[in-house]
Amino acid sequence: MNDLTTPTVLIVDDEPMNRMALAELLSGECRLLLAKDGASALQRVADEPDISLILLDVSMPGMGGYEVLRRLRADARTADIGVIFVTGHTDERDEERGLLLGAQDYVSKPIRPAIVKARVRNYLKLAMQRRELERLSQQDSLTGIANRRHFDEELARACRHARRSQESLSLAMIDVDHFKQYNDHYGHGAGDDALRRIAHTLAGVARRPYDLVARYGGEEFVLLLPGVVDVEAVLEQARREVMQLGIAHQMSTTASVLTVSCGGIVADAGRLPKTKESLLNRADEVLYRAKREGRNRVLTERF
Ligand SMILES: [Mg+2]
Repeated sequence: MNDLTTPTVLIVDDEPMNRMALAELLSGECRLLLAKDGASALQRVADEPDISLILLDVSMPGMGGYEVLRRLRADARTADIGVIFVTGHTDERDEERGLLLGAQDYVSKPIRPAIVKARVRNYLKLAMQRRELERLSQQDSLTGIANRRHFDEELARACRHARRSQESLSLAMIDVDHFKQYNDHYGHGAGDDALRRIAHTLAGVARRPYDLVARYGGEEFVLLLPGVVDVEAVLEQARREVMQLGIAHQMSTTASVLTVSCGGIVADAGRLPKTKESLLNRADEVLYRAKREGRNRVLTERF
């Protein structure tokens, strides 16, 4: 995630003059991105999960603003992004159509700068407050990464998306080896520290826009990797980097430092199990095998 206090706004308009005018008006209010048509707007949104608001032109060659909004709302990952239509249409029916499609607001061209600025500010203020509350409710308080509740929501969302788009989905469970012995020997303060460092390391490994690393409970972490990804390589990197932290563990029978075991699964397009629970169970089984086969290792399974 980018700086949480600076919202990102995407300006979409086919006229360079309009883009420039809006960008100038909003500079200093937010981080700005620009797109010149509907298709590149959707691409931008896919690349930047942090966009809070889109100022969307209605009339553009190719895909128009209504269609862009319809597609945003149809995808669970982008359904919550705010949209303010900016349009030369002054017809009441057009305004109604935009609002019915789920736009937050509507401003007409030629734009009145003070009004646009005020509407954008109002929207962003609410969006930022909502985001902060959401962030707090989604965060694991010990490590600062996502908590289990957030992970469960994201997994459900990723499953729906994978089913609809026929994309594959990877999932991994990661468990710290001999962690109880670590806590018993070094104390809970050291144990908490170790979990924080491991969480941070895992978060650094899975960093594509829709990847998610969460603390699942105790010393167990989960990784959600939507789309096509070499899950084995990601997990191997995670395993290696945790070892390289060099957190001494005298009581481990596996290594002289803290290590992790990883169980990953890849559910190919169209082969996703019916429930997210069975997906988690399968990852858990693979993790269990990694443990049984000696720990500090990565096992993956594809189905
Ligand atoms: Mg236009």
